[in-house]
Amino acid sequence: MPDEKLLLIPGPSPVVPRILDALALPTVSHVSPEMAHDLKEACENLKKIVFSDEGEPFIVAGAGTLAMEMALLNTVGPGDRVLVLSQGYFGDRMAQICQAFGIDHDVLASEWGRAVTPRELDAQLKAKNYSVVVCTHVDTATGACAPVEEYGQVLETTGSLFIVDGVCATGGIAERMDAWGIDVVLTAAQKCLGTPPGLAILVLSELAMEKRRGLASVPAYYSDLLRWLPIMRDPTKYFSTPCVNEIRAFAEATRIVVEEGLEDRFERHVLFAEALRAGLAALGFSFFTAPGFEAATLSVVRYPDGVDDKAFRAGLGGNGVVVAGGLGPTAGQVFRMGHMGNLTSAQVRFAVEAVEKTLVSLGRVVTPGAARSAVDAVLKS
Ligand code: PMP
Repeated sequence: MPDEKLLLIPGPSPVVPRILDALALPTVSHVSPEMAHDLKEACENLKKIVFSDEGEPFIVAGAGTLAMEMALLNTVGPGDRVLVLSQGYFGDRMAQICQAFGIDHDVLASEWGRAVTPRELDAQLKAKNYSVVVCTHVDTATGACAPVEEYGQVLETTGSLFIVDGVCATGGIAERMDAWGIDVVLTAAQKCLGTPPGLAILVLSELAMEKRRGLASVPAYYSDLLRWLPIMRDPTKYFSTPCVNEIRAFAEATRIVVEEGLEDRFERHVLFAEALRAGLAALGFSFFTAPGFEAATLSVVRYPDGVDDKAFRAGLGGNGVVVAGGLGPTAGQVFRMGHMGNLTSAQVRFAVEAVEKTLVSLGRVVTPGAARSAVDAVLKS
């Protein structure tokens, strides 16, 4: 039986029928012309999505965490030091991956709800040299968006490679690889790109590829991008069996992104974020992320006094909308609502109405229709 609940967790995002249909195509040979066509098209579209003319795209079975690991293992060599900019849970994960592989690293962390400032980055780079700097574009635990373009400016003259974890941003918030001097964008299928989970996705700049080629070896086999490069260039070759159906569905997802247009898609994400937040504020909620750092892809929402997290999320689920709880120190105090991928304005309105209905069922007094009006005012502006 199909589950008709609207999935507004911070990924996976709702999957539209066009992508589900592509996923349900008959499984073809992984080295067939059909598969080669779709993988090539997905790679070309991926370059458009991250604004890279000459980058090397990689799409392999896995998830965002594998992409994080691949980014580090293919750009960090003996004697290199990495600076991890962490604004929360997933920056800390990047540091854990460094630790797991014995990579020399420092962490420059911000308070939860904010991000490291370009000035702090600059000061750290003046104090110490780093071969690689890694940041999380949007931390999914805190809803904080990092100033990636400004980081790129700070890094311009340092010679450090710049890796961006775009798992909660790519395809929903601009990441202009060439213009901003990004060397690796890593991401996953299940968030702003609207495909079911199952892919590790990366685009490497020429400089990053040069770095990999200069490494005699990397402590990886499946994750060694030089083993995948021939397949990405000619998908009729074999290295390890790719997830045929998922990749064909991802190709369709990238077509949808390109058809919508990147700039329009980024604007839609901003508009929907503003509309949802206006509706939630009208219902008495406030927001965890510090002003000026709010991401367009998810909201971390504080409960009004007296609203119980578990009861609220269970009630909301009953009203057809699934959201996530808080991570780490925010657990029980907030819920996290994703608003990324191929969402529609009808779904935005439905979500706010479901929240209102849930509050009423929990005995809260709300002004009927106020939230819907607040949403409409943004969507029609
Ligand atoms: N980075 C960020 C910013 C994420 O939000 C996530 C997933 N929530 C990951 C990395 C890890 O991705 P995955 O769960 O697909 O391994």
